[in-house]
Amino acid sequence: MFKKVHLRLTLLCAGITAVIMLVMSLCYLYVSEKGLYRNQFQAFKNDINTISTNLEQQTVISMEWLAKMEAQGNYRFFVLDNGVPFLYNQLSDPDQAAENDRLLAESRDALDNLPAQDVTVTVSDGINGIVSHSEYEFTPSSTDSRYFCSVIRMGAGDCVLEIIVLSSLHRLEQQIAEQRLRFLLIDIAAVALLSIFAWFFTGILLKPIAENQQKQAMFVAAASHELRTPLSVILSAAECCQNAAPEKQAGFIRTIYQEGLRVSSLVTDMLTLSQSDSHRFPVRKEPTELDTLLMNAYEAFGPLAQEKSIRLTITLPDEALPLCSIDPERISQVIAILLHNAISYTPEQGRITLSLVRHRERFAVSVQDNGIGIPDAEKKRIFDRFYRVDKSRSQKDHFGLGLSIAYEIVKAHGGNIQVTDAPGGGSCFTMLL
Ligand code: ADP
Repeated sequence: MFKKVHLRLTLLCAGITAVIMLVMSLCYLYVSEKGLYRNQFQAFKNDINTISTNLEQQTVISMEWLAKMEAQGNYRFFVLDNGVPFLYNQLSDPDQAAENDRLLAESRDALDNLPAQDVTVTVSDGINGIVSHSEYEFTPSSTDSRYFCSVIRMGAGDCVLEIIVLSSLHRLEQQIAEQRLRFLLIDIAAVALLSIFAWFFTGILLKPIAENQQKQAMFVAAASHELRTPLSVILSAAECCQNAAPEKQAGFIRTIYQEGLRVSSLVTDMLTLSQSDSHRFPVRKEPTELDTLLMNAYEAFGPLAQEKSIRLTITLPDEALPLCSIDPERISQVIAILLHNAISYTPEQGRITLSLVRHRERFAVSVQDNGIGIPDAEKKRIFDRFYRVDKSRSQKDHFGLGLSIAYEIVKAHGGNIQVTDAPGGGSCFTMLL
């Protein structure tokens, strides 16, 4: 499932970035291409202005001059005397001549058909009469390339000389096509890089979620497993109770009650952990006398320790201690878990010491026993949910949740809890607050 989500997130990230990049590239290309056309048209108009100024001042237009102007601007000139092409345009190549005729005809047609706003017209006085020139853009039918065109008219009445100047935009269009291709390649490379980055990035983001989901699944599996045993005992005891003689029913009812208590305590533990997971873990801190808290726990667990002939002792600092800001109920719960475990995993005649030490601003509460101890390899895992070092050795009321609850409570207080080997065997759990 996470692989699918990973892929979808990657596609989404890469897709959105690709669209943004594409839109930005298109906007840039649009503005840049418009600018290129505008500049080219302006350069063309400047050249035409120069040519028409020359024409205004010349009495004779020589072929050399025209050829020179043509070569300079890479233009194509057509000269018409009263609408009749001049010798200047007569070529030996018939194909080229036909092409020129078509260009000439189409450029003149375009001028007649174009709306007025697409044509720039300039009129001035020259020594041979009025000189006017009109510039516009057109696309001949024979080619996809566009042309800038200028029609320069001199004279009036029966004596009109027209010079038509054509400038092909082929080179500019090639330049623009190259620029588009460059952008396309850059965009493709960027999208590929972004996809790789998005894959790693979403992978990093999803990792804790995937781990969490796996933990949740394991938690549910373990919880169901733990609940199944007492529930099946309850069900079979209830069934037997129905068919049993009245004097035997009390025994079954006791079993049902005890197993019910087990289920209830397990459900309470699971609820505590689920609250901690969803950050709804209520920690109501208040100034507390930690030594009093330990004393209360010591007194509460005294009888249980005595039942197993375990010697429970308490060590408190001699000096008066400052108040500690903690949730007394939660911290009592941690001490109870540690003491309960110590009593459970320490054989009869054993020793357990509950102690409080002050290190400047911090307090260390420890529960040390001389019981069965915890192998080094297991020390990290005992704080995991439902983890028990030796399941067969654990008693019925141990689900492997106590230390995980203790860990969450201490974490919620900003402290930490750790386990070490007690000198001479056994374990020592220390909670730093
Ligand atoms: P449980 O309810 O099984 O005690 P915990 O989370 O409290 O669950 O403890 C996890 C495991 O850590 C226990 O099953 C036990 O194997 C080990 N453990 C905890 N406390 C002690 C201890 N004082 N001495 C030895 N082993 C312990």
